[in-house]
Amino acid sequence: MSTRRHIRPLPPGLRNQIAAGEVVERPSSVVKELVENSLDAGATRVDVVLEQGGRTLIVVQDDGWGIPHDELELAVTRHATSKIRELGDLTAIGSFGFRGEALPSIASVSHFKMTSRAEGSDEASFVEVRAGEVEGSGPAALAAGTRVEVRGLFSNVPARLKFLKTDPTEHKRCTDILSRISLAHLHAGFSLTVNGRETLRLPPRQQLAERLAAFWPPQVCEGLLPFDAEREGYRVHGVVGAPAQAQSRGDRIFLFVNGRAVADKVMLRAVRQAYAGCCCQGNTRRPASSSTCRWIRWT
Ligand code: ADP
Ligand code: MG
Repeated sequence: MSTRRHIRPLPPGLRNQIAAGEVVERPSSVVKELVENSLDAGATRVDVVLEQGGRTLIVVQDDGWGIPHDELELAVTRHATSKIRELGDLTAIGSFGFRGEALPSIASVSHFKMTSRAEGSDEASFVEVRAGEVEGSGPAALAAGTRVEVRGLFSNVPARLKFLKTDPTEHKRCTDILSRISLAHLHAGFSLTVNGRETLRLPPRQQLAERLAAFWPPQVCEGLLPFDAEREGYRVHGVVGAPAQAQSRGDRIFLFVNGRAVADKVMLRAVRQAYAGCCCQGNTRRPASSSTCRWIRWT
C-alpha cells in the first residue's frame, strides 16, 4: 500500500471472516467446535453427518440443554458466550469454549442454521445465517437439544476451498477428531454418518478399552493394561500396552489433559522415558541407534 488510508473499524461480517481464518481451517475444525459445544451443553448423544468431505453438509445434533429462543441470535454473535462472565472465571474454566467465536466464525463462511430447544421449553426455534448475515429466525420442530447444519462451507471464500484435500482425506480428519474427543468422553454416545452411510457408532457409558476397540484392531487392544495413579493433586489414568508389544506408531499414542486431546512433546517424552530400557520382543521395531524400545499406546 503506497498511500495512507484512514483508520476505520472493520465491518462485523469481515471481522468474523478474519476470525474464521483462525477457528475454521477445514471441515474437521467445524466438527471439533460443534461437538465440543454439544459436550459443553451436557450432551450424552452427539450425532454427526457429513456429505462430500464436509464441503456440502456438516450436521451436529445433540441432546444437550439447548438454547432459549431469545439467546439464539446472540449465540451467533461474536464474543457472546454463556461460559465466562468475568476475568476470574478464566482461571477455572471447565468448558471447551469460552471465547464466543466459533459459531459466528463458522456462520460467516457458510450457510448456517441452528435449531434448538432449551430444557423446559415447549417449543424449539431456529436462526439461519448466510455468509455472516442473519437471514431468518422463528419457531421450529425439534424434540430436544440442538441441531446445527453447516452447508456450503467456504462457498463465499473460494480461496479457502482450494486448501481442502480430497473428500476421503477430509472425512478421515473428521473421523480422527471425533474419535479423539469420544475417547475422553466415555459417558456420551457418538455416531458418524458419511454420505448416507453410518461409519461409526459408539454407545454411551463405554469403558475405555471397549471404545478403543472401535478404532484399533483386536491384537492391539488385547492386553492393554489399565493404570490409575494420583500424586500431588494430579491424577493420571488410562491404558497402556505391555512393553513387550510396544510399537513405534506415534498415531496410537493418545494424550488428554482435562478431557482435551493434546500433542505435547514433554508428555510424549515422559511416556517414552517410562518405556526406556524395556525389553523388546516380537514384532517390535527397535530404533537403530538405541537399545530402548519405542513405544506404545497410551490414552
Ligand atoms: P463458546 O463455546 O466459546 O462460548 P460458541 O460460539 O462456540 O462460543 O458458542 C456460543 C454460545 O452458544 C455458547 O457459549 C453456548 O451458550 C451456546 N451454544 C453453542 N452450541 C450449543 C449447543 N450445542 N448446545 C447448547 N448451547 C450451545
Ligand atoms: Mg464453542
